[in-house]
Amino acid sequence: MSDRKLLMIPGPIELSPAVLTALKAAPPSHVAPDFIEIFGASLELMRQVWGAGPKSQPFIIAGSGTIAMEMAVANVVARGQRALVVNTGYFSARMAEMLRRRGVEVGEVGAPAGKAPSLEEIETALDSAQQDGRAYDALFATHVDTSTGVRVDAQAIARAADRRGLLSVFDGVCATAGEAFEMQSWGADIYLTASQKAIGAPPGLALMVFSERALEARKSLSEPPPMSVDIEQWSPIMQAYEARKGSYFSTPATSLVCALFASLSEITAFEASGQRGIGPRIAAHQRCADGMRAAWAALGLELFCEPDLSANTMSALRYPDGVDGARLLAGIKARGVVVAGGLYPGRQDEYFRVGHMGHVIERPSLLAKTVRAVGETLVENGHPADVEAALATLRERVGG
Ligand SMILES: *Cc1c(COP(=O)(O)O)cnc(C)c1O
Repeated sequence: MSDRKLLMIPGPIELSPAVLTALKAAPPSHVAPDFIEIFGASLELMRQVWGAGPKSQPFIIAGSGTIAMEMAVANVVARGQRALVVNTGYFSARMAEMLRRRGVEVGEVGAPAGKAPSLEEIETALDSAQQDGRAYDALFATHVDTSTGVRVDAQAIARAADRRGLLSVFDGVCATAGEAFEMQSWGADIYLTASQKAIGAPPGLALMVFSERALEARKSLSEPPPMSVDIEQWSPIMQAYEARKGSYFSTPATSLVCALFASLSEITAFEASGQRGIGPRIAAHQRCADGMRAAWAALGLELFCEPDLSANTMSALRYPDGVDGARLLAGIKARGVVVAGGLYPGRQDEYFRVGHMGHVIERPSLLAKTVRAVGETLVENGHPADVEAALATLRERVGG
């Protein structure tokens, strides 16, 4: 792949040199002492990145983000139970469908494309169900919905569920390690992601942390989940590795775990303004997002989602009037940068998406290359855009 283009989609993303180096080694055995150390240490680092308590259980499983969603669903609710889904787009709709297929009765509180329901609407949905004697057993939300770039207020939602003694599950696939999330102090019960987004590793790992309460919910299910996604099978394995003992239920993706360890090590060692760890790393994502947003505005582009709700990790941008979407994306690609089309059902043709998470947030030259590619292609397609002004405003915010 010698003419490899800069990958600026919402996952998979560009990898850091350290992660690429970790990937180069031949796959270790799952019980090699070095690998056991790497697996155990990765589980410990996940707790730091997730803001999870010592009694929570992290899981590293071979699979995609969708598998992580399935594991969350299958382990905390069963046929006949009720779940409320905060629906902000494509991936929340997928979560609702997964719940229905498990026989769970699903209520939804949604909003038009690019918006999110208010906390009040969510609380009203929870409370009125309770008053009707049909209280929900769990609440599901998507931290950043990748189809629109909308970020929900995960802290307020987790607290609202916690106050009512309700389990809360957050799909963090386009958020974890790029958006603030403090599992323990917010009282959230499951935070799940996949390796290929802000975590900064290749695709192939489903990552999730379960709270004590979520682990209990699995124990009280009337019927066990399918074996391969059952956390009762996986918990002893994770505990063994964390205690630095090899163990086997189903072969871990050893090469990917090595890459994950390299990435989590970088994330937790991130340093900025004399601070170290996940906090400064999230602040850097926010700074990058502010810079990209200022650049988009300078190019005359509008966000697809409500500006107050826009995520750190990506931008969803409307095609300007008169600009053909397919031609724009092709022109950007011809300039060496890959961005993504729209994803919201029925609205795909109105906008495109740019990922800005992980390694690139600290590489102003790559951010500038992206802004330049988008800007020049806009101009080529007859949209007046001041590319130099966009680059200057980006530089002011992210350096370079
Ligand atoms: C990408 C994504 C998923 C799906 O992850 P896959 O690895 O593609 O299965 C789920 N939820 C969100 C929010 C995502 O961004």
